Amino acid sequence: MSVHRDFNKANEAYVANFGDKGRLALAPTKKLAIVTCMDARINPYAHLGINEGEAHIIRNAGGVAKDALRSIIISQRLLGTREIAVFHHTGCGMLTFTSSHLQTLVKDSDPGNPALEAVDKIDFLEFPDLEQSIKDDVAFLKENPLVLPETVVTGWVYEVETGKVCPVQNLWGRLCVTHLRCSDSPNCLICIWKTVRSILLSFIDETCHSHIGSLRHM
Ligand SMILES: [Zn+2]
Repeated sequence: MSVHRDFNKANEAYVANFGDKGRLALAPTKKLAIVTCMDARINPYAHLGINEGEAHIIRNAGGVAKDALRSIIISQRLLGTREIAVFHHTGCGMLTFTSSHLQTLVKDSDPGNPALEAVDKIDFLEFPDLEQSIKDDVAFLKENPLVLPETVVTGWVYEVETGKVCPVQNLWGRLCVTHLRCSDSPNCLICIWKTVRSILLSFIDETCHSHIGSLRHM
């Protein structure tokens, strides 16, 4: 059975709790545009603590900036946003195929149909490296003359396994992204820091206990 048959029932419940959202302004109050993947596991409102009316959420396969440019121009020039946050995520389907593979798949679904050859003109904008794809998209937006020069552009990884987000544009962010994929590697600086910290804390704890013990004997 098609899912759309359930829409009306679900919508009745939603409308019953709609409150005063009908009064929200058209322009996002946080002046923020989020570019993210269409992946069904991602809920940007929930994982970023954003509410209706506060930000544009621009979604496409992969959260690719080039594909989002049309919406970004509208968002900035007509609706006043001045900050863009690009989110790509772990486990993204865009890491798993190539455009030529998908083009062949489409054409092979109906061999001899010339109309399907139009797929050869579509660049599906897949990417082989998650972190690099975010850096590329941030650079694309910062350097693009169609994006307002005063725009604050940041890049982020969303981890579908835990719901965590990590920035990629600074040292902490890079460590954080490495840590997402490290599986407790001995080369991961965050894992090393956690180990050192737990040793230090247990040392301080022991010192405190012996100090309290010596005070009792005074
Ligand atoms: Zn994805």
